[in-house]
Amino acid sequence: MSIKEIKVKGKTYQLPIFLPDATLGVVRGLDSEILEKIGVRGVVVNTYHLNDNPGTKILERFATLTKTPATKKSGIKNFMNFFGLVVSDSGGWQVFSLIKRHDEAGEISDEGVKFNIGGEKNRQQGVFTPEDSIRIQFAIGADILICLDDFTGVNDTEEKIKESAERTILWARRSKMEFEKIIKKRKLTANNRPLLFAVIQGGWSKKWRKYCAEELLKIGFDGYGYGGYMVNERGELDQEMSKYIAELIPDKFPKFALGVGKPWDIARCHQFGWDIFDCVLPTRDGRHQRLYRFKNNPNQKKFDFSDPNNYEFIYIARQKFSSDVKPIDNHCDCFTCQNYSRAYLHHLFKINDVLAHRLAVIHNLRVYNRVVESLG
Ligand SMILES: [Zn+2]
Repeated sequence: MSIKEIKVKGKTYQLPIFLPDATLGVVRGLDSEILEKIGVRGVVVNTYHLNDNPGTKILERFATLTKTPATKKSGIKNFMNFFGLVVSDSGGWQVFSLIKRHDEAGEISDEGVKFNIGGEKNRQQGVFTPEDSIRIQFAIGADILICLDDFTGVNDTEEKIKESAERTILWARRSKMEFEKIIKKRKLTANNRPLLFAVIQGGWSKKWRKYCAEELLKIGFDGYGYGGYMVNERGELDQEMSKYIAELIPDKFPKFALGVGKPWDIARCHQFGWDIFDCVLPTRDGRHQRLYRFKNNPNQKKFDFSDPNNYEFIYIARQKFSSDVKPIDNHCDCFTCQNYSRAYLHHLFKINDVLAHRLAVIHNLRVYNRVVESLG
């Protein structure tokens, strides 16, 4: 069982919901009008990147443009001209990735993530703490803020997993303290404050997942997320763990399956109780000429959205599509399929026109939204 809606800053959003990636405050190539037509009701923005560009000062300036209602008093929403649900991630993933890419570039300690990256001329040094993450997320103006967490690799030892779960709990506690401090300072109420979500870590260990969930529940958050890798070594959804973690969270809370996933995995995870999803796949795949397609008419009553065999990909760059007059999918109601052929899309990619990305991403996002709409 899962809840049907989420209320934040005076606005109600129906669940389940899929949030495409808008890293730098844009779903690349798409404006807010077409997002609405596709059925996109929310996005995920990136704390680390937005802090760099355009920077929180500019976003905070946009927050003052509209005094009321609370739904519009958001820097990122006014900046993007998008008034759906906006989630900011913690920024942790980006900092960790930077460290992993440059061997000697930093370390993770209880204090936060120490980084020391770049060359002589553009060296960046410092510590990214849980408190920093919360402060930046407030300045961005998202509806849902996520606590900085420490995650593990697929093959980490139990000792490493224990450390990561304990650090995640410590950071969540500090995040909540900072969150409450800012709420008090800004005199925000239950009706106009953002929500704060914590992320459950613990790698492959049920014992540490349980411990992490219980400790986070004791601290108390507005919602809970599934952290770390949700897939096994073969890249398939770990269904058992995904179900287990969903059951650790009481049903009155929103449950966010971070980074999930392929369309059929979204449908499966929803059966387990997850109701918020975000993933870079539909937009990234679209830009790389990979288009999602239902094999049969998804309007049929018995169509199973959780079966991977009901989907297929079209690699539009293949020569065979150069003269194909059909749309990507006859059953699709998206702007692209209603107006353009496979041949035209093939041509646009071949000549490298920006419209190619736009039309491909519109279609892929529509497929994802069809999946989520079928679950509601
Ligand atoms: Zn379409």
